[in-house]
Amino acid sequence: MPLKHSLSETLSVYSSKHFPWTRRKTSTHRHKVVIGVGGNVGDVQRRFEHLFFEIQKDKRVVIIQTSLILKNPPFGFTEQEDFLNTTILIKTSMNAKVFLDYLMRLEKKFGRKRSFANAPRTLDLDIIFFDNLVMNTDKLTLPHPAWSERESVLIPLSGLRL
Ligand code: AMP
Repeated sequence: MPLKHSLSETLSVYSSKHFPWTRRKTSTHRHKVVIGVGGNVGDVQRRFEHLFFEIQKDKRVVIIQTSLILKNPPFGFTEQEDFLNTTILIKTSMNAKVFLDYLMRLEKKFGRKRSFANAPRTLDLDIIFFDNLVMNTDKLTLPHPAWSERESVLIPLSGLRL
């Protein structure tokens, strides 16, 4: 992966073609969303680039900005590869529930298999913020409950102009 910058013994940041990236034009889509993206199986950086194009294909979604990619050690189940994480600022015409279903479908498309909590994963997609929505239902908690405690979210997020 190109352009590595070491932040500490365990953390480093990378850039790739569309990470970081900023769109020049604005978008008229109504809702502003930040998603967290992660993975630690196979060629994750390549998957992030594929994800970028897959999201751009859908007319209901526009990518406004992406951040750098952070490489960081796993938490919970630690006997696995380091994770790559990034964040993406999106504008969408979908409401939060429909948007979550959309993300779950994307995860499936990229081969996510659910096994156990904190298990290795090809692609993990979370909604970090959806406008200023605050909610806590069985399916969706907003903002994402762990966002403020995770370096994997906070460090990439610091590069976005929200
Ligand atoms: P995981 O992929 O292991 O992070 O868990 C995904 C599950 O968490 C989904 O089935 C969602 O229903 C639920 N969930 C709750 N809040 C969120 C959120 N803010 N973003 C993504 N998934 C969420």
